[in-house]
Amino acid sequence: MNFEEIKNDEQQYMMHTYGRFNTALVKGKGASAVDSEGKEYIDFTSGIGVNSLGYCDEGWVKAVSSQAATLQHISNLYYSPLQTEVSKKLCKLTGMEKVFLCNSGAEANECAIKIARKYSFDKYGEGRQKIITLINSFHGRTVTTLAATGQDVFHNFFFPFTEGFDYVTANDTDDLKAHISDDVCAVFIELVQGEGGVMPLSEDFVRTAADICKEKDILLMIDEVQTGISRTGTFFCYQQYGIEPDVVTSAKGLGGGLPIGACISGKKTAGVMTAGTHGTTFGGNPIACAGANEVLSRVSTKEFLDEVRAKGDYIREKLSAMPNVKEIRGKGLMIGIVTEKDNAKDVAGRCVENGLLILTAKNLLRLLPPLTISYEEIDKGLSILKSVMEV
Ligand SMILES: *Cc1c(COP(=O)(O)O)cnc(C)c1O
Repeated sequence: MNFEEIKNDEQQYMMHTYGRFNTALVKGKGASAVDSEGKEYIDFTSGIGVNSLGYCDEGWVKAVSSQAATLQHISNLYYSPLQTEVSKKLCKLTGMEKVFLCNSGAEANECAIKIARKYSFDKYGEGRQKIITLINSFHGRTVTTLAATGQDVFHNFFFPFTEGFDYVTANDTDDLKAHISDDVCAVFIELVQGEGGVMPLSEDFVRTAADICKEKDILLMIDEVQTGISRTGTFFCYQQYGIEPDVVTSAKGLGGGLPIGACISGKKTAGVMTAGTHGTTFGGNPIACAGANEVLSRVSTKEFLDEVRAKGDYIREKLSAMPNVKEIRGKGLMIGIVTEKDNAKDVAGRCVENGLLILTAKNLLRLLPPLTISYEEIDKGLSILKSVMEV
């Protein structure tokens, strides 16, 4: 099928929920993708932070295809050595205690929200149900995670939303303190706001939040759906802030391209979810877990993390010498660029025409390349970006 046919069928048979670029990707290798017309692209998106090891990494393909040929699915009525391996790895890499496996970021966050409410209910009874999130956050697309998302544009059409969320300005400790009341059970934050514009939180704000939470027995919950799995140069981003969260959520990069999410509990919340309080049909699917196990064993070594940081620094240095670059934000291989001309959407569109896949977030350009991207691929992508920025 050629591109026009694919596009026509999409128009005819799919709900129009996405604004898509004019290309249909059909195969890839490393950080390069190929479209239906045979045109090649350098990929600075990794499927929005999903393909941690790039397209069709050899070890990942082997792990996933051999699992597909062995046992593709069992229900959660039975034990699974692949699930326990993923969970054990996540606990060892964080020092946390218990894992619930699900299928997406929104689901991981739903689990975190349920844990917060039940932790408080078990200990204090009714009435302590409020969860504080940040303005410009993004936590997912279910009715509850939309409510958790602190952006008015998402609070539309689907009324009534889940009650019990309150929003605080990021990096404003006074605003945070002003919103802490007796009915708060959790503070739930991203450490680099992704969709909200690649905005890192200050250490001061995060430490203050952690201190308040500890003092008042409020849960500190970190949404690491985008920042986790070595994206920001440490396995989880919270490890750069010297804090110990009560709950951490993960998804996107965890499966290397397969749908899997995780909600991870620390000591305080390890026993909150009991038999019958939560569940999922697909969560912890063996093939998704095989992918996650390969990802986790590869991205967590010191050498790998050093490389992620070095590549991030290299990209930042090159970007800072590029025309139309006003500000560079983010951590590791999660990079946001404010443009002088405030033309990120236009730049992203022209990049695609010129063979570079690149993201935007609010009015920023956003780079989430595969963690395994080579310097050669980085240089190729940046030279396309430069030629587009020059115009
Ligand atoms: C993408 C994202 C989500 C939602 O994940 P889905 O897998 O799309 O449900 C939640 N939180 C953050 C920080 C994200 O970046």
